[in-house]
Amino acid sequence: MTEELYLPDNEYQREFEAEVAKSRETTEGDHGGYICLDRTLFYKEGGGQPADTGTIHWGENKSKVVDVQRDHGEIRHYIQGELPEAETDIKGEIDWERRYKHMRMHTAQHVVSWVVLNRYSASTAGNQIHEDYSRIDFEPADFDEGDVEKIERSVNTLIERELEVEKKYMSREQVEEAVEEGRTNLDIIPEHVDPLRIVIIGENDLCPCGGTHVGNIKEIGKINLTDRKSKGAEVERLEFELEE
Ligand SMILES: [Zn+2]
Repeated sequence: MTEELYLPDNEYQREFEAEVAKSRETTEGDHGGYICLDRTLFYKEGGGQPADTGTIHWGENKSKVVDVQRDHGEIRHYIQGELPEAETDIKGEIDWERRYKHMRMHTAQHVVSWVVLNRYSASTAGNQIHEDYSRIDFEPADFDEGDVEKIERSVNTLIERELEVEKKYMSREQVEEAVEEGRTNLDIIPEHVDPLRIVIIGENDLCPCGGTHVGNIKEIGKINLTDRKSKGAEVERLEFELEE
């Protein structure tokens, strides 16, 4: 098992030291293989958020981490360049610019989902974060252009309140007591996951989530809802960008 160093509340650390637990050369794709570490700061792709990229160093060697995936129960760091052998001590550094954009985008997704849930009782059915734009699917929902403007205004008004984002572990039981049914994605998280990593924005929006987030929603900046699409009878997709 790899210790995930960014959990539950350590998303601003950029460098770490670790030991290689496993090293495997492969010939597929744009990488030379993968390594598993005893601990990592690299975020593995999941929950609609792309993987971190970055570098690892050991001795005189430096290689790129081009992708991170959970596979066969392990966290695999895919490497471009030389692969360190098992038991090598390495230093890792994440590509901070990319990670921080994902943190801002992901937190913005929470705020948009919160506003839409409160205003329209529509749940988040899916989302995909990118560095430059993101999208969220809502269900059941039927928005018009007026709604899009209202959502955008509400989200930006909330951001101006500069609410803190708290992240911590809570037992499943505590989470069930703290939220009304249907107001979290709890039912889609396997029963054995307990405790849960919880993200709380301004004491009101409580959501189980394993992603990376900023510490205060003011870091999101300003959001622009750039597109709305119907994706079926009761599903609406909103796309958004963030101003720098
Ligand atoms: Zn999240």
